[in-house]
Amino acid sequence: MRDYVKLTEHDNVAVVTHDTNKGTEIMPGLVLLDDIPQAHKFALADIPKEGEIIRYGVVLGYALDEIKRGSWINEHMLRLPVSPSLDNMPWGVNINKNLPEAPAKTFMGYKNPDNFYAGTRNILGINTTVQCVQGVLNVAVERIKREILPKYPNVDDVVAINHAYGCGVAINAPYAKFPIRALQNIARHPNFGGQLMVVSLGCEKLTVDKLIAPELNTPENVIVLQDCKGFDAMMNAIMTMAERKLQILDKRRREELPLSDLLVGMQCGGSDAFSGVSANPSAGYAADMLVQAGATVMFSEVTEVRDGVHFIAERCVSPEVRDKLADEMRWYDNYLAAGEVDRSANPTPGNKKGGLSNIIEKAMGSIAKSGTSPIVEVLSPAERPTKHGMIYAATPASDMVCGPCQLASGIGLQVFMTGRGTPYGLAAAPVIKVCSRNEMKEQWPDVIDISAGEVVTGEKTIQEVGTELFNFILDVASGRKKPYTEQYGLNNFLCIFNPAPIT
Ligand code: CA
Repeated sequence: MRDYVKLTEHDNVAVVTHDTNKGTEIMPGLVLLDDIPQAHKFALADIPKEGEIIRYGVVLGYALDEIKRGSWINEHMLRLPVSPSLDNMPWGVNINKNLPEAPAKTFMGYKNPDNFYAGTRNILGINTTVQCVQGVLNVAVERIKREILPKYPNVDDVVAINHAYGCGVAINAPYAKFPIRALQNIARHPNFGGQLMVVSLGCEKLTVDKLIAPELNTPENVIVLQDCKGFDAMMNAIMTMAERKLQILDKRRREELPLSDLLVGMQCGGSDAFSGVSANPSAGYAADMLVQAGATVMFSEVTEVRDGVHFIAERCVSPEVRDKLADEMRWYDNYLAAGEVDRSANPTPGNKKGGLSNIIEKAMGSIAKSGTSPIVEVLSPAERPTKHGMIYAATPASDMVCGPCQLASGIGLQVFMTGRGTPYGLAAAPVIKVCSRNEMKEQWPDVIDISAGEVVTGEKTIQEVGTELFNFILDVASGRKKPYTEQYGLNNFLCIFNPAPIT
């Protein structure tokens, strides 16, 4: 088992794989001058004041004071560089044509009438136009699950698409297009099988016609609570419509489909300094295999890509894709600036405890989950992809906001990497948990599906864990296995990204 990880030959820091005491000779001739917590950095060479601190072969920051060889380097010792320029980024200069061969090319999924990506689950999704209906709908969904769903064994679940949007909002503000598009596209999610059901209140700003196409706004699909005479009538209307939709959904069957019908989302949360060593590169390897086999994979989280944007631009297949990438980053820079912050507001106390000194170090680890595939398309938040391959879908990095954005983009499942641990999950699509270190798996053996910890200790390769993850993704997509979050029903509220004013 190795005691430290140095990532590139240019690095002048390494991270320890376990808590290591001051005075330890960690490598021949290098004695640690401080106690170094697990995943934290120590200096491999003397670094002068204002000297570069290099990990991943990139400058994480500049030393605020002289740092002696063998010293601990923590988040208080670096000055953050300016973020990379978005102007004239080179594109297409790093197109990998040798992706790893995938061990399988098909999965068992639910084909959909709209020929968009296939479903991985068979779910009745009940959409809402406004938060006001949530209480009524939740009571109804309880009853549907208890009284009606057992009659339809081919349907996996009934899910209320509750959210905080819909009224008390500036519905015509330019940025209102983000939350509206998200809710429109979630209603069309591949796991819902084209069966549309909407519960509305009747007086909200987000009218039914703003949520779904006018020709779909019929009594077959839409219930207006204010048109119902009393609570029992509301319940009856919802239960009756749900049963009609369940009858149709129950006829859905899985079939063998090419992986070009599968759309997988990737995100991370609660990252540590091992995320970029083990979990995210393993996910990247699995992503490359998926793309090689024809699948589509999307990664997101703008603030965690911003400092590595030039590496993503190099992989863009056209200047148009590169330009859209730059536009999304620019939009977010301005969004953050309007709030009088920048991307450095991202790292959490837990990230720092896990050895991540700043957003650059976090970003270098984060983008590893995108593997090496060419970037064929860039999406605005909650847009649906039109291309197959590796896609950058711009979303906030917040787990609870990225999740619904990727759901709106149509992911059949999400792969979620973590170093510190989070029980996050989505009701409408399975979420697979991959951890970056063995201690995380030992702490939560029954929450984490796959551990990449042995990549840190040198006992497994990225290729081995990546292949294991690829196979697990196909098992989950095909319904042969359920990740822990799905087994327990760990589902987070859908925080719909709304950069527009609330009134
Ligand atoms: Ca995240």
